[in-house]
Amino acid sequence: MKRVLFIDRDGTMIVEPAADPQIDSLDELEFIPGVFTWLGKIARECDYELAMVTNQDGLGTPSFPEETFWPVQNLVSKTLKGEGIEFKEVFIDRSLPSEKKPTRKPGTAMLTKYFSEEYDLTNSFVIGDRLTDIELAKNLGAKGILFNDGSLSNKLTEKNLEASCIGITQDWKTIYELVSPKRSAKVQRTTKETDISIEVNLAGKGNHPLKRVWHFLITCSIN
Ligand SMILES: [Mg+2]
Repeated sequence: MKRVLFIDRDGTMIVEPAADPQIDSLDELEFIPGVFTWLGKIARECDYELAMVTNQDGLGTPSFPEETFWPVQNLVSKTLKGEGIEFKEVFIDRSLPSEKKPTRKPGTAMLTKYFSEEYDLTNSFVIGDRLTDIELAKNLGAKGILFNDGSLSNKLTEKNLEASCIGITQDWKTIYELVSPKRSAKVQRTTKETDISIEVNLAGKGNHPLKRVWHFLITCSIN
């Protein structure tokens, strides 16, 4: 079964200007620090299908003409692809919040293909900077990661979304740690005669004499 990372664009991979959330010129394009390094590591090391899910309010109307959107979107996709981050699917909802369309996050109408035996939604993630991203995670039966400085924590509780959110962070390194497979483990076994603990850590720097890619640290103590 395939696992998916559903990733929001504005405010998560690129900066969303506070004054005008519509990113409609290349002058406004700024990537979030760390996104290339850490999302790149996720793309290279982890087994996720990547899907971009973004609301672009009123796209294609005079308030947000296509020709102002696509140069930014195309440059975002091309730059990420150059860093090994390739989105298998890009889902763009163009409606306005007032229309309350089922395609608009947190609605799942654009994402129905993922409700199939082919996909493991329980072990998939939605990463985004709004509560609607976490609500989308809930609606998909996936887990959410809120890209936020903590100021939305109370709202998350109010909306009863805590159970669908496994982390709140604005650090892509932390996101990498949350979605990558567990890289360390500790097991302890105590009997009358022995007390053995084994710790394996795969997160080293690869400077093992055997030149393994990962540095294995095994400690064993018998008392
Ligand atoms: Mg966003």
